[in-house]
Amino acid sequence: MDPKNIVDKDASFFGQPGGLQTLFFTEMWERMSYYGMRALLVLFMTASMQEGGLAITVASATAIYGLYTGGVYFMGLPGGWIADRLLGGQRATWYGGIIIMLGHIVLAIPSEASFFIGMILVVLGTGLLKPNITAMVGQLYSSDDDRRDGGYTLYYMGINIGSIIGYFVTGYLQENAGYHWGFGAAAVGMALGLIQYKLTQPKLKGVGEKPAKPMSAGAAKRSWAVIYLLLAGLAVVTYLALTGVIIINPVAVAGNVAIIFTVIFFLYYLSIFLFGKLTRNEMKRLGALFLVCIASTMFWAGFEQAGSSFNLFARDLTDRMIGDFEIPTTWFQSLNSIFLVTLSPFFAALWINLSKRMINPSYGFKSAIGLIIMATGFIVMFFASQAAASGLKVAPYWLVAVYFIHTVGELCLSPVALSAVSKLSPKRMAGQLMGVFVLTYAMGNVIAGLLAGGLDPENPQAMPELYWTIFMFGVSVGAVVFVLAFFTRKWEKLPPDDGEADNDDHPGAVIDANEPVSKP
Ligand code: GLN
Repeated sequence: MDPKNIVDKDASFFGQPGGLQTLFFTEMWERMSYYGMRALLVLFMTASMQEGGLAITVASATAIYGLYTGGVYFMGLPGGWIADRLLGGQRATWYGGIIIMLGHIVLAIPSEASFFIGMILVVLGTGLLKPNITAMVGQLYSSDDDRRDGGYTLYYMGINIGSIIGYFVTGYLQENAGYHWGFGAAAVGMALGLIQYKLTQPKLKGVGEKPAKPMSAGAAKRSWAVIYLLLAGLAVVTYLALTGVIIINPVAVAGNVAIIFTVIFFLYYLSIFLFGKLTRNEMKRLGALFLVCIASTMFWAGFEQAGSSFNLFARDLTDRMIGDFEIPTTWFQSLNSIFLVTLSPFFAALWINLSKRMINPSYGFKSAIGLIIMATGFIVMFFASQAAASGLKVAPYWLVAVYFIHTVGELCLSPVALSAVSKLSPKRMAGQLMGVFVLTYAMGNVIAGLLAGGLDPENPQAMPELYWTIFMFGVSVGAVVFVLAFFTRKWEKLPPDDGEADNDDHPGAVIDANEPVSKP
């Protein structure tokens, strides 16, 4: 029997399948480690040597930050492919988690070399874990199970509960014990995630146990050989860079990487259309998903100022004193996750209420609205930075307001988009398409890092104009997505592809869209 039919009836985790519990807590701890470490990253790089930092300039530090966060998500593309073709989601998640934990352990060692090696390990591990654990959430549901959106909303709450724990724990440790204790705490978080994953893995009941479209033994062997070769190449480049044989200019690299990621995204998407043996329905559904991907990229390019320019704005330009208490810089970023966890139930109720009134905004519409709301947050930053440019530190409410607006935008777009990917992708490509989608995070993050380079708190006079440009750009793209969503709305609503049931048994088979198919 198909595993998804067994878990279909299961409602043991807040009305959702029990497997969601496994994925919820694993991702919660993984995100605790990711955001906990990330919150410290720019602060650590830009802090002086005396303060225990690396004394890197803001432009380089934000570019490295953008490359790191971009790299984390870029690796989701090969990570998704490895799960679909070689490992299956469950093993990809497990090994990914182990590599992430090792990365944080290396980061805890105070040296410049270990800092960069640790980051590379986290990048590789997250690539393996993130898209696959996210795709497995969707695989807990059969295609007509309407709990999918709710399941993703709950899962997204888990992500943010993990982030809150991360921000508070590492922020506290950094201020009271030093940066490397913060990085070490991230390793402990990931270890807890791995332990609970192993203990509760049976709840997944076979979901993601095997690759969705396995390769022949020979082809798999060749693929692994290529993967090992690439990893060896990466090790050599890292060694040469650390020993100073090759000099890497992070700002220049980040600019090129943004272009390379974008080209890869378009080529990969196009190749799925050309060589993915899609039926007509699948093509239309992926066309609708493409629009969501564009909105997602633009969204994160703005939103991801959180860890970079907003972080520095909080540190240098915000009056963080309440009486005698100084609010730690990292706490501001946690506002996003706190608002998210608090607002999630309202949004879940809003979508249910709207659908009861037969108003069911499509994935495209919701994404457009999310993008536009996020962009309006930059009007607030425009005024806040104008106030800061006068030389006085500004009140903390400005950032609180921005984070609130950004979180409302995020709730309209992000969990909705994950559900869209899982719903609109052909099952045999679930991991890969989640990898392609995660690439929109990568593009967004690298662009965000580049933008942040122009937002140096040393030079607040330059800020208002750039924040205004981000606002205008975000709203314009949001408006275009909104209009296009009128067209893609119908494509999203097409029934699960005519050939879906057969496709699962014969991955890659071309099925005529008009051919009747009997469901098992
Ligand atoms: N907060 C979300 C997550 O961690 C989205 C991250 C992102 O940068 N797109 O999954």
